[in-house]
Amino acid sequence: MAETIFLKIIRKEIPAKIEFENEYVLAFHDINPQAPVHVLIIPKQEIPRVTDLEPGEHAKILAEMVSAANIIAKKFGIDESGFRLVMNCNADGGQEVYHLHMHLLGGRKMTWPPG
Ligand code: AMP
Repeated sequence: MAETIFLKIIRKEIPAKIEFENEYVLAFHDINPQAPVHVLIIPKQEIPRVTDLEPGEHAKILAEMVSAANIIAKKFGIDESGFRLVMNCNADGGQEVYHLHMHLLGGRKMTWPPG
């Protein structure tokens, strides 16, 4: 599979507005925001899709992704008002970049059902 743009962001080869980083995850603002707060949280390890996750192997990474989402939500003051976490998987899920990522969306009232 061809290298993704997110790998280049992890290596700091292309710029991104980084919000949070630790040894497991990197979080940066989406280039095409769909809400006042739209941050992508990605693992530093190359995992293409949700379907590639193994509970035993990747539990720590998933926990770190959710933890990063909570830290960022708090930073933007949307932890109490609420937010949405989205992971698109494969074609019907609307996945465009095949490096695992979680969208943190907030700062406005979300609608349901999603498009
Ligand atoms: P998905 O459709 O779930 O694969 O989402 C991929 C997201 O990555 C989209 O919301 C894009 O706007 C975003 N994106 C693509 N390239 C970049 C980039 N260079 N920096 C920040 N966000 C990006």
